[in-house]
Amino acid sequence: MVQQKIEQPEHRNSLGYVISQRGFGMAPEEAMIVWGNKPDGTRLFIDQARRGAADHLKCECGAELIARKGDVRAHHFAHASGAAQNCTEAHLKALSKFAADALERFRKVRIPQIPGKPQTTTFAEAKPEVFGAFGGVRIARGTDHDRRELCILFKVKRGRAPHLKETFAMVGVSAMVVDLSPFRNLPDERVANAVAFEAERSWLHNTRHPEAETSQAKDAITRANSSRRTRKREWGSPSPAQLPRIEKTVTADQSRADADSDRTEPKVSISREEWDTLSPAELRRRLFGSEYGD
Ligand SMILES: [Zn+2]
Repeated sequence: MVQQKIEQPEHRNSLGYVISQRGFGMAPEEAMIVWGNKPDGTRLFIDQARRGAADHLKCECGAELIARKGDVRAHHFAHASGAAQNCTEAHLKALSKFAADALERFRKVRIPQIPGKPQTTTFAEAKPEVFGAFGGVRIARGTDHDRRELCILFKVKRGRAPHLKETFAMVGVSAMVVDLSPFRNLPDERVANAVAFEAERSWLHNTRHPEAETSQAKDAITRANSSRRTRKREWGSPSPAQLPRIEKTVTADQSRADADSDRTEPKVSISREEWDTLSPAELRRRLFGSEYGD
């Protein structure tokens, strides 16, 4: 058994995590870079890349990549400079792209429960989108007359939930969170199924059914309390006292956006800093403006 392992290094899935035979979220390892961009703009997975710099691949962050394909460690890319082997931008892009491809294949996704509504929704298109520190997808449901957008955010690390609830509420777009952390070390087809159906999901914000959001929030709190001692304040039930706070945040955000100077965040679709600094109107424009309108 040990001999075999040395001769055949473990593989990584499309999210960059080692595929673990023990399965279900047990491998503690961090994600590594597994996708490179070819000079012609197409993407190449680490398994198909030649060793070293032979394919002239670049990372999502723009850095040149070296394919590390040794005999022991799971194959992965590293920045040629040697710096920042753990590239946030590469991981977020890999996750968003993978999830969008998976959802485009299925053409449907399970949504968190809304009383009296179907548990899956169909859609025509799924686009990769990075939401601050979270990889995600946005889908458009409905017809031309009744077109609705839904943002899907993916959580891959344990104990970290997006704190963007108020942002989506301000922007007026529905969003849900899918917890992929127990599935991140599984082969691609299992992760894809988790993205669309299997993984636990809850509403971050629901524009039409705020009551579903509330019951989901309570569920999440119960789960969090019973499983671990993690406190997830961002999942707290919305209270009337939150409304004035949202107003205040809007004003503060707008003034900060005006005073915005140099940015060091990676160039993701909407960076973490932008989520904090852009006004709701600008966020909405960036999310849906040019393609969807109101
Ligand atoms: Zn990079």
